[in-house]
This record gives sequence, C-alpha cells and structure tokens, in this order.
Amino acid sequence: MVPAVSKVLLVDDDPAILRLISAWLERAGYAVQIAADGLEALQSIERECPDFLIADWIMPRLDGLELCRRVRQLALPHYVYTMLLSGHSTPDSTIVGLESGADEFLTKPVSKEMLLARLRAGTRVVALERRLNLTANTDGLTGLMTQRMFYELLQKEWARAERLHLPLSCVMLDLDFFKRVNDMHGHPAGDLALKTTAKLLLEHTRASDSLCRYGGEEFCALLPETGEEAAAHWAERLRTALASQKIDVGDERLQITGSFGVAQRYDDTQTPEQLIDQADQALLCAKRTGRDRVIRFQSLNEAGDLKIENGPQADLFEGVQARHVMTPLVVCLREEETIGQAAEFFLRSRINSTPVIDENGRLVGMLSEKDLMMTMVSLDYWQLPVRDVMKPKVIAYEEDTPVRAIYEFLCRVSIRRVVVVREGRPTGCISRATLLRWFRNLVLSKGLIERENAPLPLKDESDPHHSKQRLVETARQLARQSAELLERFQKDDEDLIPFIVGGSTGMQELLYDLLAYSRYANAGDRFGSGLQAMLAEGCCME
Ligand code: GH3
Ligand code: MG
Ligand code: MG
Repeated sequence: MVPAVSKVLLVDDDPAILRLISAWLERAGYAVQIAADGLEALQSIERECPDFLIADWIMPRLDGLELCRRVRQLALPHYVYTMLLSGHSTPDSTIVGLESGADEFLTKPVSKEMLLARLRAGTRVVALERRLNLTANTDGLTGLMTQRMFYELLQKEWARAERLHLPLSCVMLDLDFFKRVNDMHGHPAGDLALKTTAKLLLEHTRASDSLCRYGGEEFCALLPETGEEAAAHWAERLRTALASQKIDVGDERLQITGSFGVAQRYDDTQTPEQLIDQADQALLCAKRTGRDRVIRFQSLNEAGDLKIENGPQADLFEGVQARHVMTPLVVCLREEETIGQAAEFFLRSRINSTPVIDENGRLVGMLSEKDLMMTMVSLDYWQLPVRDVMKPKVIAYEEDTPVRAIYEFLCRVSIRRVVVVREGRPTGCISRATLLRWFRNLVLSKGLIERENAPLPLKDESDPHHSKQRLVETARQLARQSAELLERFQKDDEDLIPFIVGGSTGMQELLYDLLAYSRYANAGDRFGSGLQAMLAEGCCME
C-alpha cells in the first residue's frame, strides 16, 4: 500500500521550476521536499526516503544522471520511483537516462497534466513494491515483523547504541508447552493463542520498540535505550499479563504462559547475533528452571565465561542419555529437614550440594554448602527448615534426555551441574566433572589418543601414575573403603546413610579411575618385585 500522502523529492537548480512544480504537486495532494542539486538531494534521501524522486538532468555539483545512479546503489527502506527531466530529448539521451536508473524520462517544458499522469502511473509500481515488501516483512498470522526484517532493524539499532553509547536490550519469549495447546485444543486454537500473544506484546510496547515473530511460538523484542534490569521488569509485566489472559476457544477457556530471556548489549558484546544468543541462553535457563518466568543473562553469567563456540565434531554422544552418564543419587534432603540436619548430612557424607525433595519425593530445590554458610549469622537459623534457604530454581532434565543437550547446556552457562529426574523425582546428577570423566573414559577406552598425541607428555614408563602400579593402588583403596563400610554396617546404632553415600561416592571415583587406566592392565610387569609385593599386600586385605 502506498502511504495516503506520497512523498516527492523535487531536485532542480532553477528556483522558478522548483516553485512551479511544487505548487502543482502540493495541490494534487503530494508532500513535497525540495533540493537545489544532486548532493543536497542525496542527503535528503538518507534522512527521509521519498516515494518519488523528480530530478533535473543538468545541475551543479552532482547532476541528475549521477544522482539516479547513486540512489540505486543505496540500501533504502523501499524503492524510490525516479523521473529525470531534461531540456533535450533525443533517443540517445532517453536511453542514457533510463540506463542510469531512472524509471521515466520527461522532456522540459513538462506539462502539469503529463507530470501528474506519469506520477499516477508510477504509483502503481510503488504500490506493488510496497505490497511485496509488506508480505515479505510481515508475519501473516500475527502481523508482527518477520525475523529477517527484525535483523535489519537490529543492525540499525545496534549501530545507534554503539555510536551514542546507549543501552539496548533484547527479550526472547517462547510460549510454554505450546505443542500441548495444539494437541489438546487443535491448531486453530493454537493460532488464536499466537495472535492473542502478539496483540498483548503490541499493547505493551512503545513506538521505539521492535517486535517480531522469531519462529513458531517464539517472539523477540528489541528495546532501545533500555538496560537489562528495566527490560526484565518489562518482561515480568508481560509474563503476568500473559499468564492471566483468558483465551476463549469454543466452550473452553485457554490459559498460556511464556518463558522469557533478557540480555543487554554491553561494549564487550561482539555482534547483534551475540546479543540474541545471550537472550536465548537466558530463555533456555527459564525453560529449564520451570518455565513461566523471566531470567536475565547477567544472572547466568555471574561466575564467568560463557563463550564455548565449537561442539565436538564426531557425535560421541550418539544414543547416550542422561541416565547412562549421571551419578545416581542415593539420598536427598527433604525440604522440612532443618539446616542443622543438612549441615550434619553434608559434613558426614562429604558432598557439597544436594537436591531437595518434598514429601512426595518430587524435586523442589537445591541446597549447597554455600547456602548453609549464609545461615552462619545466628544460632537460631540452625532450626530453620531447608526450604527457607534452598535455591528453588533447579535445572532438571528427564532421564531420557540425550546427553548432548546437557553437554551443550553446561558448556554455555556458568551453572556447574544439573539434576536428572524421572517423573519429577530426582534420580541423579550430571556435573561438568561427570561429563569430563565420562569423556575421558570414553577416549581412553577407545584408545583414541595414542601416547604421543596425549595432551600431557607422559613421563617415563616407571611413572606410577601411568602404570599397572596405579591400578593396584586404586584397587587396594577400593577394597579398603569397602571394608570400612562393612565395618560401619555392623554398628547398628548409627545413622548409616551418610556413610554409605560418602563411601560409595569415593568408591565411584576409584572405579572410574580403574576404568580410565584399564589400558595399562595388560602391560608387562616392569616393576618386578615391588609390584609383586604390592599385589601380595593387596590380596591380604581381602
Ligand atoms: P516448551 O515449553 O519447551 O517451549 O514446549 P513447547 O511444546 O512449546 O515446545 P516445542 O518447540 O516442542 O513446540 C512448539 C510447538 O509450537 C510445535 C508447533 O506445533 C507449534 N507451533 C509452531 N508454529 C505454530 C503456528 O503457527 N500455529 C500453531 N497453532 N502452532 C504452532
Ligand atoms: Mg520454541
Ligand atoms: Mg515453546
């Protein structure tokens, strides 16, 4: 659609012609800008792109031909329909004029009727171009701009924020469990929910904000001159509005929620794409911590570096699920247990964090040593229930989640471990160390790294860290720990659980070591009687 009032830029070095033609155009309903030469015209076009350009051929500084050529090279928001006016009209000059990028070539003196008729003909071209633009840049369902258009705008806002040192924030929204909406209420209901969300977004945005439908049920907002904190407040308002919005579908009423990720551009944010990626990471965290919430990128980044760009090339994770890799959980704290009990548990079991469950065994939080340290300000806190100090946001994955997803998550965020659940009940944990250990064992067991390629140069063959000797020592430790545990079992009056947890965690580590160094098991005995003696000692322990 052409705007109701079309904008014309009229360029001529003859003030009398400018006056005359402006008067005709204005009377015909056009909004007219004037320029005295090609250079002035270019500046005007970059400030505000006109719908039509009418330019004289011969002008000082920059003539009409060169102006047409330059206009065609500019990246303008829309097409500028261009007419060239000239005193001479030979077939050759017409060809040169059109070849320079003009759409029309008119000979002076031009009549008012001819000029207006040519403009009306041009309007058809302009209208068609605008309609195509609109189709390409607007999402058909929601009327919001498309991702492609959004990126164009983002580049501009980015440049402006950089130049003027203004804040710029990005908010990503992904509707929660949207697949279920479609499955339970049908696709038209899903479409209606998407339209309602878009309308709500529009109601909450200022004219300077940009909104797009980023993908299926994902939306992205760009908030210029807004920092992360203010953007998070905005998102929070939107989250509340969305959650309380009722959508009527036939006889039923639908309610939907959304998860939000917020990120701000700082001077060390490298590219517009990185800003979007950061908002996306925060969104991922919002999903993983329970959905229907707003998470700020800065809150993920407190502990440091998030920039891991390359995943492994070969898919070593193929077919591996969380439950294959996780460290199984033997026991969890219950939310009503006291901080005193939790501290005792930590100290005796030698662990530094644990999932917290409710009375039905469902995961409700995470408690770490650090959380307990916070309570060391008053003796009274010792009696408080764990639920008062635990972190309620826990990143949890189902047991059948491909390990690759967890690997990618732990690479990207500063959180060190995730909980693995089965139907909401924690069954294990996967930390960065768990993955590293798994990976190391995999590499070693497959013999993928030859000695000469190993990352750390190996010392000579007698190094006990890389020998059968190490295997013997590890096995002996394992036997010792197992014996200690058996001893504990004989003391009926004790709370055995912490000892079992502590003991088995230690043994687990030793088992992993055995696995990792298994490649030395078949090496010849290079240690003579020393090794024999050790083996004998090891056997005695049994
Ligand atoms: P999550 O909370 O993890 O985001 O769960 P989800 O179900 O929203 O996520 P998922 O990405 O698995 O599903 C998105 C769904 O959105 C799948 C697709 O059918 C639906 N969807 C995408 N575009 C449209 C659309 O234009 N109309 C309708 N009705 N549904 C759409
Ligand atoms: Mg999605
Ligand atoms: Mg979704």
